[in-house]
Parts: sequence; structure tokens; C-alpha cells
Amino acid sequence: MVRTNAIVIRETGGPEVMSYDSVDLPDPKPGQALVKQTAIGLNFIDTYIRTGLYPAKLPTTPGFEGAGVVEAVGEGVTHVKPGDRVAYSTFSGTYAEYALGPADRAVKIPDGIADDEAAALMLKGMTAWMLLFEIKRVMPGDKLLIWAAAGGVGSIATRWAKALGAYVIGVTSTPEKAELVKANGADAVLLSSEDVPARVKELTGKGVDISIDGVGKDSAMDSLNSLRPCGLYITFGNASGAVEPMAPLVLQQKGSLMMTRPTLFHYTTTREDLERAALAVFGALKVGAIKADIGQRYELKDAAQAHRDLEGRSTTGSTIIVPS
Ligand code: NDP
Repeated sequence: MVRTNAIVIRETGGPEVMSYDSVDLPDPKPGQALVKQTAIGLNFIDTYIRTGLYPAKLPTTPGFEGAGVVEAVGEGVTHVKPGDRVAYSTFSGTYAEYALGPADRAVKIPDGIADDEAAALMLKGMTAWMLLFEIKRVMPGDKLLIWAAAGGVGSIATRWAKALGAYVIGVTSTPEKAELVKANGADAVLLSSEDVPARVKELTGKGVDISIDGVGKDSAMDSLNSLRPCGLYITFGNASGAVEPMAPLVLQQKGSLMMTRPTLFHYTTTREDLERAALAVFGALKVGAIKADIGQRYELKDAAQAHRDLEGRSTTGSTIIVPS
């Protein structure tokens, strides 16, 4: 058993329900790995667990993403061993010094990649991989609209899409963030306060091939109205709230559009798919197609402030929580 500092949520609510506490973690059971973490990845999904949008059994420690050194493994573990540097996107309870999770969900961090880069990229980078390669392979010349393009997933997806030869229009909320999106290589940047569909049509003629939309509720209709006929609407997040239900007929009326609501977990269910995703992300980092883009860091005890800033739209790129 190990005693670890951790964030604990006993009831759903605002950032104030996150308390900095200490909890006991049992020894790893068969198939599990115990990791002494060096970096924790902050993700918007962590706020859905806190608010109850995605229900979790309470009390709970939030966090899915992180990196560190394996301290101990349970019976039957073959993928990792004590001393290995590993990263993961589906451990449960990473807002802590130590994390315990399924060993077959951890991947070794290649030499030359820092722990904090891996922690920033495991969930957000693999999500960008899912969006650009797995749902529909982005081809050179494809026109993409990327929402929240200065954020965690958005920054990575923008750089990667440009490396693939796509034409990228990024959307963000402020002129300062727009500068970052431009620096990440976007061909055009729009402010969310503008008439996005009208501006997209000015820039592209018929509209974009794909709208990559993690904003959710507030941007759903603008996404659909920015697509060319038969274009693809990928709605993959709820930063502004969950998208309202809509009739399939809406897709026909707006030009035989396609729509999907993916989650990374279903694209990385098998060990083979997880390794394929990790190889793609770490490979893209090594060749400079993407960057971890760590915009800010918080001490573990300040995780509530990290949530306030993420939800208050004041973070850029990825965010690391430093275990302590
Ligand atoms: P971000 O760093 O992108 O932060 C969210 C951004 O959303 C903000 O910075 C802001 O950018 C934008 N935003 C627009 N409206 C709002 C609002 N009302 N409140 C708060 N933010 C708003 O977060 P992540 O990179 O962690 O995640 C991005 C999205 O991707 C999230 O929706 C997340 O749930 C989703 N996601 C989905 C996954 C999946 O498997 N389906 C996996 C990983 C992430 P701006 O100010 O520029 O508008």
C-alpha cells in the first residue's frame, strides 16, 4: 500500500468540490501497474467528471492522463516493468502523486521524449490522431474547420493537419489566441464572434470538407452551416455544453451531411490500436509535425484553479499538473 497526495471529489459541482487530500492506494492487483507520476495531463473531460456531466462513482480522484516511472506491477503484467518510463490516457485517478491502472493501457515513452510531453500528448494527441487519421483520413488539399484551435486538442490538430497538407481554418475567441493559431500554421483564423459560416464560404467557396468541433453546443449549427455538400461534422466534445438533439432530416436539408460523435476510447480499445496511436503521436512529435505545446503548469494542490482557467477559456495549448 502507498499513501499519496491526491485530489478528491466527494460531490459533483464547481471547482470548489476538489479537495487536496491524501489517500491510500492498494498494491497492484493482477494486470495493474503502480506509477510514481512525474506529470499529469489536464483535460476538459476531467471537468465533466467533476460536474457530473459524465457520471462517476463518488468519492473519486479525477484525471485519466499522465506519465511517470513504474514503481510496481501486479501478477501477469508483461507490457511494462518497474523502472520503465510510461504514459497513459485511460488510467483512472491521475490527479495524484501515484496512479494505479491497467498495465496494458500504459505505453513506454520513447527515448528523446520528455515525460511532460508524453503526459500532454497521450489523450490530446491521440484524439487528434483519431480525428485526422481514423474517422476519415485527411488528404492533402482537404479543407478543415478546427474549433478551439488554440486549445489542447486544437493546437495539436492544427499543426498535424497542416503537416498532412490540409487547408486549415482555425476558430478561437480572442485576437491573442488567434496569433497562436496562426503561429501553429493555420491558413486562416476566425473569431467565434464572427459569422463563421459566412466567412468560411468566402474563404472556400462551397464550404469545408470537415468541421472538427470540440466546442459542442454553441458551435453545432455553425459547424453544419460551414460544410460543403456531403461534408463531415465531427462533434467530439462539450466545452460549451452538450449538443442539443437534432433530427436526421437536418443533415439532408443542409446538404446530405455526415455526422459522427466519436470518443477516443472506442478507437483504442485493443492493445494493437493503442500502440498504433502512440506510435503515430510520438512519431509525429519526433519529426516535428506536432508539438506538446505546454501553455501552463499548476501544482497538484492548485488543480481547482487549473479547472477554473480551462473552463474560463484562459488556457492555451496543453496544461500540465505537477504531482507533489
Ligand atoms: P481545450 O484546451 O481545447 O479547452 C477548451 C476550449 O474550448 C477553450 O479554450 C475555448 O477556446 C473553447 N470554448 C468554447 N466555448 C467554451 C465555453 N463556453 N466554455 C469553455 N471553453 C469554451 O480543451 P481540451 O483540448 O482538453 O479538449 C477540447 C475538446 O475536446 C473538449 O470538448 C473535450 O471534451 C474534447 N475531447 C474529446 C475527446 C473524445 O474522445 N471525444 C478526447 C479529448 C478531448 P476558445 O476560447 O478559443 O473558444
